[in-house]
Amino acid sequence: MKAVVLTGPGQLEMTERPIPACGDHEVLVRVMACNLCKTDLKCLTMGQRDLVYPRVLGHEISGVIAGVGAAVTGYQEGQRVHVHPGIACGACAYCKKGDDNLCDHVRIMGFNYDGGFQEYLVVPAEGVRGQIINIIENDALSFEEISFIEPLSCCVNVQEKLKLAPDDTLLIIGAGRMGILNLRVARALGVRKVLLLESDPERAARAETLGFDAVFATGQEAEGAIKELTDGQGVDAVIPCCAAADAMNLALRVLKKQGRFGHFSGIIPDGATQPEINTIHYKEQIMTGAYGCSIAHSRRAKALLENGSLIVKDLITERIPLEELRHGLERVRQLETLSTIVVFD
Ligand SMILES: [Zn+2]
Ligand SMILES: [Zn+2]
Repeated sequence: MKAVVLTGPGQLEMTERPIPACGDHEVLVRVMACNLCKTDLKCLTMGQRDLVYPRVLGHEISGVIAGVGAAVTGYQEGQRVHVHPGIACGACAYCKKGDDNLCDHVRIMGFNYDGGFQEYLVVPAEGVRGQIINIIENDALSFEEISFIEPLSCCVNVQEKLKLAPDDTLLIIGAGRMGILNLRVARALGVRKVLLLESDPERAARAETLGFDAVFATGQEAEGAIKELTDGQGVDAVIPCCAAADAMNLALRVLKKQGRFGHFSGIIPDGATQPEINTIHYKEQIMTGAYGCSIAHSRRAKALLENGSLIVKDLITERIPLEELRHGLERVRQLETLSTIVVFD
């Protein structure tokens, strides 16, 4: 089978490997689609503290069960599945609360184990035990659509933490893939007013057709316009979906008193911008972090997709074969597509 292996920082190699054997407590999945993510790009270019080479990246995985270990129950060959990437210990304090994305011993498919940029992957015994394999019940969903469950789950995580209500005005900053997915989740959860701030004119224009109530270019004028639209108060909640350091201060400025800030996307320090955290003090704003997603978040995102509460079909803008992974990651870096998905036939 084909696998793209990361052998060192910046080094992706197309290799031929035997299809992995499926142990008694394991499940073999034939990968059908794997969505490309900024995290893959980060692992490729900057490496990561815990990344051990060689490694197959890819953690937004959909596929078909191709083998079930003799000791495994509850799964059958041929079932269409989403594979949740996080394998938690199940025993630490966070796991016991259901916050398994914060598990002290979490291990991740596409990071600690080989992920989805290969034709077959093995779900290890601890993953099978942790029930990371979600069986898809809606046959109408394509594998590309199913591959959106993981990023959607991350949006469910931040939005549940923000306790969004239908009457809230939500501001999303950044119209990349995660900004749009946050819009779709907010709509599915019943939020009626969702605004967008986007500095790039092309991405702003593209977002106009995707369902925001209003789209603003970043800048002083936009801040004024947002205030005006909210009776001078500012928005109830904000989710910056970009890594720009100055987006955080902008978000705090347009967020109303006691507004909620979802710190969803890691920020790349620019060396100049200082976070204006006293704004949080004066305006009693509430800040919450959201990191990845738990198994429960992935089940809720799967349900929203399966019952038609949200659609992602129109966000599938580029399908590539495994051979073009490097090129696809380059397009993710340049934010050229809404999504790029490796598909297998
Ligand atoms: Zn991802
Ligand atoms: Zn744990």
